[in-house]
Formats: sequence, C-alpha cells, structure tokens
Amino acid sequence: MFTILLFIFVLIQNAQLRPTFDAKQHLHTYGFLNTSNPGEKVFKDAIEKFQSVNELPTTGTLDEATIERMKARRCGRPEHVPAFAQTANKWKNSHITYKIFNVSEPFMKTEVKKIFDDSIKVWTDNVNLKISETDSNKADIIIHFTTQDGPYNVLGYAYYPDNGDIFFDKDEDWTLDVSQGAFKTYFGWVAAHELGHSLGLPHTETMQSIMHPYYSTQVIQPSEIDTKTLRTMYGQAIMNNSILCEGTSVDAILDTREPLLVVGEEYWTISDGVLQSGPIRRDVLFPGLPDKIDAAFMVGKRSYFLSDNLFYRFDHDAKPYRLISKKLISVGFDKVPPNIDAAFYHAGATTIYFFKGSKYYALNTRKPSGKRLVVNGKDISSDWPGIPTDVEAVTLTDNSQVLFIKNSKCYMVDLNTRVLLSTENCSTLYNC
Ligand SMILES: [Zn+2]
Repeated sequence: MFTILLFIFVLIQNAQLRPTFDAKQHLHTYGFLNTSNPGEKVFKDAIEKFQSVNELPTTGTLDEATIERMKARRCGRPEHVPAFAQTANKWKNSHITYKIFNVSEPFMKTEVKKIFDDSIKVWTDNVNLKISETDSNKADIIIHFTTQDGPYNVLGYAYYPDNGDIFFDKDEDWTLDVSQGAFKTYFGWVAAHELGHSLGLPHTETMQSIMHPYYSTQVIQPSEIDTKTLRTMYGQAIMNNSILCEGTSVDAILDTREPLLVVGEEYWTISDGVLQSGPIRRDVLFPGLPDKIDAAFMVGKRSYFLSDNLFYRFDHDAKPYRLISKKLISVGFDKVPPNIDAAFYHAGATTIYFFKGSKYYALNTRKPSGKRLVVNGKDISSDWPGIPTDVEAVTLTDNSQVLFIKNSKCYMVDLNTRVLLSTENCSTLYNC
C-alpha cells in the first residue's frame, strides 16, 4: 500500500515539475493571438506567424522545435502587437538618470553597475543622450530584481519611456561570464536588451539585433542597426570641438567609413571633410588601447593603431571592435621603426605609408615578408614637397588626396602627382 502511495506521490511530483505547456496562452501573452481560446484556423495562423519570426519551418503545427522555442529564454515584453503599440515614446530630456534599487544573488551592486555602464556606453555612442547613475528615488530608470516566472523563460522586462523601469528575474541562474551563457543566463544580454526598451526601442524580428526577443550568446551588445535606430530617435551627439579649435595637437586619423580624428582617449567623427560629432571615448569602440597612440590606419576591415614600438590590430566585424593582436611593429612591418608620427594605407597600391620625423617609409603588403619595405627612411621633403617634418596625423581622402595635419594646419597633397594642393588652417575641417 505504501509503495502504491509513494508511486502516486512521485507521479504528482513529476506532473508538478513538468506542467503541460500551454502554447495558446503563450501565443496570447506575446501578442500572436487576441484570445487564449482561438479557433483552429486562427491558432494555426498564429503558430505560423510565430515560426516565421523565429526563422523556424512554417509548418503551422506545434512541432518540437516550435515548443522548444516557446520555452526558450526571452524578454517578457510581447513582440507581436498592433503597429500603434510598437511606436514607443522617447525621453524628452537628453540627460537621464538610473538607480539600482536592488540586486540579487550572485551579484554585487558594483558588478551590475559595471555591466550596465558598459551597455550604456555602447547604446549612447555618438547619440545625443547621456545616462548617469543617481541615488535619488526620482531616477528616470529604476532597476529592480524581482521574482517573475521562476528560472528560465522570462528573464526580464522593461517599460518604455517615460517610465523606463527595468525588472530582472531574480530566480535566473545568472552569470557575468558570457562563456557560461549557454547553461547559465548571461546578464550582459538581458541588461543591454532591457535598456534598449527603457530608451524606447521595441522588439525587432532581426536575429542580429540585441532587440530580438529571444536570449542569445551570439549577439550580446547593441549592433550597428540598433544604435542607428537610437541615433535616429535622439539625434547625433552634440559636438564640442573647442580643444581642437584652440589648437590641440591630434594623434591620428583612422580612415573608417566616417573617418575618426583621435586625440588622447577620445575621438571625433568626420563626414564630408568636416567634423560631425565628438568627443567620444575611444574605448567604447576600441577597448584595450594604451592612453596615447601615435598613428592609425585601416587595411580592409581591420584597423591598426601604433603606439611606441607596438601595433594593435582590431577586427571590425562587430561593435565594440575586437582587439585581435598586439605585436611589435618590427615583427609586423619589416624594418619600420618604432614611434611613428602618422600613417595611412593606399589600397590601390597595397601600400602603407609611415611618417617619422623627417623620414618616410612605404611598405607593400603584397610582397613577401622581409621584402615589403619599398621605401626605407627617405626624406619626406624629397617625395612630399611642402610637407613639414614631425607631422601629427595623415589620411587618404576619398578623392585621392592625402591630408596631413601639423600645428592645426591642414596640408592637401595629390596622391598621384604628390603636388601640394593647399595649405590652410584646419578650422574648416574642425568646424570652428
Ligand atoms: Zn524585450
């Protein structure tokens, strides 16, 4: 008798541990159904829509892959809502505040703050929006850890402006280590995603976006599509160019799609030959660089920063860019000396030009290693007439002109003829 009772007890326990999954309720909760008790056709259509936005085969039946997806870790906000409800508000002020109300195991407040601040940096890079921490209970965004649906499935929820409050599910098996994110829940994804809602972004159907409703260990930071949306909502960061207009020397120009003018640990963006925005902290995009860099250039989708006797190479596949190597200049670039003043890459000739003091060096990347240095310390004056020694920065512009900067003077040279086309104050470039 006791054995039978025990058996029944175990059955009940198991049933409680594995409740039947209610797909209709799930589709209703996330906005794929208007009712939790739909007719057959409506239910099938809703399943198909769910499968379609989750890039699953659209079978219209509750197959295993579909149920698995429904049970997977995700944000608690519905994604499939009428168009009018998708239009979120935005903050009216360009400076908003946040407060961490509480944290839960295993976190310390400083850890949550660090992840949150890192996420803020990426979200607001080049956006006219400042977010800072406050102790005040009147903070715009208040961060809570609360019980939601227990472990798994819903990881967090956030309100649009001008509420903005964020709720993390305190019952998740959280981790701050993305390499453990398959088994535990990586907090960075949830923080970046919910902050996106707090700033006014709805869900997207793009898997490459941090605003896709489902948890991912692949997309763990806002991508360019996300920050672009935010920039459209709030506008570009307002520029402060005073130190450049006052004559501060520049360190380098990095020739990305929108060239970056680097000064110390900050940069400004350049578009159509004029400074557009900045200063922006460069560690947001290029984490791992030293305080002072000497020169920078791009080769394909990789950027190179030179500092003293080292070069730092970044991969530009995803933001923030990834530091993939740090080596001696003498190892990567034949006999190019350390402490370079400025450098640029000419893709058409597969040649990197380095400038140092009164000399310049040219390195053809197509040639075999050891034979790449086609110009080894020639006088700048002999091949680049009119260009001073000790230049601060150099870059190749779209129209085959080479721009040199020294002491707030901009020198334009024709790349092919090497004729000095103009010498003028950089106030036009600096937008002074
Ligand atoms: Zn969400």
